[in-house]
Amino acid sequence: MLPEIQRIRKFVEVWLPLALPRALTYAIEADEEVLVPGIRVIVPLKGKKLYTGFIWKILDQCPEGFEPRNLIEVIDRQPYFNAKRIQFIEWIASYYCCNIGEVLLACVPAAHRLSSESYVQMHPDFDWRKEDLTSEASWLFSSLEKNKKLALSDIAKVLGAGKSWLKSIRNLQAENKILIFDTLVDHYRPRTQSIFFLTEPFRTESALEMLFESIQEKPEEENFLLRFLSKSRFQTDSGGSWGITRDEFPMTDSEKKIFQRMVRKGVFEIVKEKVQPFGNLLSETTVKSILSEIQKTAYEDVLKGFNLDLPVLLMGVTGSGKTEIYINLLTHFLESGTQCLLMLPEIAITVQIVSRMKMVFGDSMGVYHSRTSLPEKMEVWEGIESGSLKLVVGVRSSIFLPFQNLGLIIVDEEHDSSYKQSEPSPRYHGRDAAIYLAHLTQSKIIMGSATPSVESFYKASSGKWHFIQLIQRYGESQLPDIKYVDMKHAIRNLQVKLDISQKVLDGFIETKENNQQSILFQNRRGYAPYIQCVDCGWIPYCPACDVSLTLHQIKRSLNCHYCGHTSDIPGHCISCGSVQMETFGYGTEKLEESLNQLLPGYKIGRMDQDTTQSRKSYEQILRKMSTHEIDILVGTQMVTKGLDFESVTFVAVFDIDRVLHYPEFRANERTFQLLNQISGRAGRRKTKGKVMVQTNKPYHPIFSMVSNGESMQFYQQEVLHRQDFCFPPFSRLVRITSRNVDEEKARLAIEILAKDLIKKLGTDIVLGPEAPSIKRLRNQFIFHLLIKIPNTLSVSNIKTILLEDVKWISSLKDHRSVQWIVDVDPN
Ligand SMILES: [Zn+2]
Ligand SMILES: [Zn+2]
Repeated sequence: MLPEIQRIRKFVEVWLPLALPRALTYAIEADEEVLVPGIRVIVPLKGKKLYTGFIWKILDQCPEGFEPRNLIEVIDRQPYFNAKRIQFIEWIASYYCCNIGEVLLACVPAAHRLSSESYVQMHPDFDWRKEDLTSEASWLFSSLEKNKKLALSDIAKVLGAGKSWLKSIRNLQAENKILIFDTLVDHYRPRTQSIFFLTEPFRTESALEMLFESIQEKPEEENFLLRFLSKSRFQTDSGGSWGITRDEFPMTDSEKKIFQRMVRKGVFEIVKEKVQPFGNLLSETTVKSILSEIQKTAYEDVLKGFNLDLPVLLMGVTGSGKTEIYINLLTHFLESGTQCLLMLPEIAITVQIVSRMKMVFGDSMGVYHSRTSLPEKMEVWEGIESGSLKLVVGVRSSIFLPFQNLGLIIVDEEHDSSYKQSEPSPRYHGRDAAIYLAHLTQSKIIMGSATPSVESFYKASSGKWHFIQLIQRYGESQLPDIKYVDMKHAIRNLQVKLDISQKVLDGFIETKENNQQSILFQNRRGYAPYIQCVDCGWIPYCPACDVSLTLHQIKRSLNCHYCGHTSDIPGHCISCGSVQMETFGYGTEKLEESLNQLLPGYKIGRMDQDTTQSRKSYEQILRKMSTHEIDILVGTQMVTKGLDFESVTFVAVFDIDRVLHYPEFRANERTFQLLNQISGRAGRRKTKGKVMVQTNKPYHPIFSMVSNGESMQFYQQEVLHRQDFCFPPFSRLVRITSRNVDEEKARLAIEILAKDLIKKLGTDIVLGPEAPSIKRLRNQFIFHLLIKIPNTLSVSNIKTILLEDVKWISSLKDHRSVQWIVDVDPN
């Protein structure tokens, strides 16, 4: 009898990129594999499902009490995460009270975590018909051509279980033949576009003349050529563009035929070009960055802060030239050979700074944000990993990129609330995580803002950070003249039309007469926040949320801005049948209509989420602004961030009171930031801009601080105010939320939790529970409990108590169905 072969089994703890409460243990029989934390593996889960997981821990022995399943395959030879990245992930999970799996889900691109739930799509640059393929691959590509995308689970059904087909999928991916993605988050955008060109021989005036002569007898071709030349902004004295994209030049079917004919004649050619995001925006600035004396001093001061190993806060008023300082810092660090990260809040709305950066750094720079297409994202990822890419301009999630030798992080507009992820978990703050990342990787970090968060201001002014103020505007730009319009007074004096004061209207008129442009800001999109029956007072509400439905006149629908629910506009009141429905409040759509009515002949544009769904439409609005095809731009928060138009000299704020009275400890800060940002849009250069703010409380102290440029006073006062009430930066907040379809269940569970926590921590620390202003969202009732941890206490001890308590209550039979959200440093 042969001796029994003793196989060596090893045991590993694996985290899956899923919201699982703990790591799973698997066994592996291949003893020759070098197993270290951070290596990717494929593991089975729940029957036949496959997942990519990450080895987190090698166990010494088989865990007692159960027999672990074998893992299917070890993917990497080298760990996917190095020790520092593992530490970073663990920090995020522990600081923001979530599972490592949730962090993995946020930080590993879908292409690197293949699972039964992944989707496959053909790579846009791959032509499968030209290849010699196995029968399986041809099956895959012909199905992909038919279906556009396939779920991996469906592919598995055809290609069978086991691991060989998975390997082929990964190979196809590595060869850039397919793309792997999550349907939920990723969407694919073609990377190439067709551009029609007039061919080289015809690109002189005389050649064109001859061409026209030769087609004299063919009026169709002549007309087509004329239309092409006018559309392609052709100019004989150079500088004009000889090409035009297919999108810019839509053709009818008969035109297509004419075009084809002229292509055959050699008049036109079609060139496929890579789509350059932000590529076609014109910028007036020069490539070379030269610092003024003041900027140079600030720049040197930044380096001084770096030498002291402190985070730096650069507080520079709008127009003081922060961007130029960033460019010089980036150049400095890139030249020293390190990688750099420039973080921006939601890049889509800060196109101008991105194109400025692109002009300076060209192809050594990658752009990483939610609208970046999948192949572009992967290019950035791989470029950073291989070190071929030196600079990334990205949103908060770019802190998860696999930097090899990070030297500098810049967090621009550090106060911006979009740095904080609120849904789903991990609910991390991009700026704060970046500070930790800088610490971990020993890189330098600088935060910039004209209106920093009170927390950052406090850290800088108390010496924990290095503080640099840049209070002088660059060149000839000056602080705008800010006026507050007393709306109560104006209404009494009949100086209001359609809720717009005569003073604001006069401002628009004067601005146009001076050949300049205006902005009207209102942070509400749609037509009206609600409609109401005149006879019985009925208001249509979202069936899933506790909010009224917003009327969208152009889309002819009622929309919920919280869950996306859409319904038709009712022809009559559902409650009493009356046909008299009235609209209330003002959204940007309605303001656009009002302005068209009050100022006939004016060109009104609108910029909000509804008008900027595609990058193209967004860029079109920017173009129209820069070519002066818009007199007044009505817009939401989008218009307040990062847009510079030289000839915008007047900005009106329709309603500031809603921001000021928002029931939140940051209301003052937000109002101050918003008003400063808005006034930054007026008169960026030579002309002194004007700002008018409609309010019922013109004597609110914040207003005068904004108009007098008294930032320091504002911050000093706000710090004292926060201290009095023990709000951040004097405490840390954690918000615990209970959620359930049953209101009573959600309330009861959080009451029990509150009672227990109060017993342990006291009523100074545990505040609530209370229902938020919108107490039901997406069919779930919501209750909040706020935990305020003063700086004198240990945050981590209290977090442990909180988490244990939440775990305890979730284990109780009666409350098991209640969902819990723990949000650290909530917005
Ligand atoms: Zn009614
Ligand atoms: Zn809703």
